[in-house]
Amino acid sequence: MTNIAERPSRTKLTARQLASLRSQLEADRERTGMHIDTVTDEMGAFVTARRDTATDDEHDPEGPTLAFERSQSSAIRGQSQQHLVEIDIALLRMDEGRYGLCKSCGNEIALGRLQVRPQAALCISCAEHVR
Ligand SMILES: [Zn+2]
Repeated sequence: MTNIAERPSRTKLTARQLASLRSQLEADRERTGMHIDTVTDEMGAFVTARRDTATDDEHDPEGPTLAFERSQSSAIRGQSQQHLVEIDIALLRMDEGRYGLCKSCGNEIALGRLQVRPQAALCISCAEHVR
């Protein structure tokens, strides 16, 4: 059985490179998950703090600050959750043997890019095109 297609259907990354990228992804996944937990706890603390001061709104100088911090935390959590989704997709693509191939054009994503951004789903030229 010979593969005559010009376009790569599987990554040319070596098993060793894939293993290294996978451990990077898994470490990042764990870190991001812990970060989300921390931010979620902080948000819970904000809610409690606001509830405690809610009876005295007029004399609560911390009110607007807490609301601001809470919205910041919410934005950070959203970004982290998005990051987690990207990592999960990358791991899934790895399981399917499609990891390292650009989602848009199907070409190989440069190893240097994957080492910096192992969750990257687009090659550099496609990523720049999107922006
Ligand atoms: Zn591409």
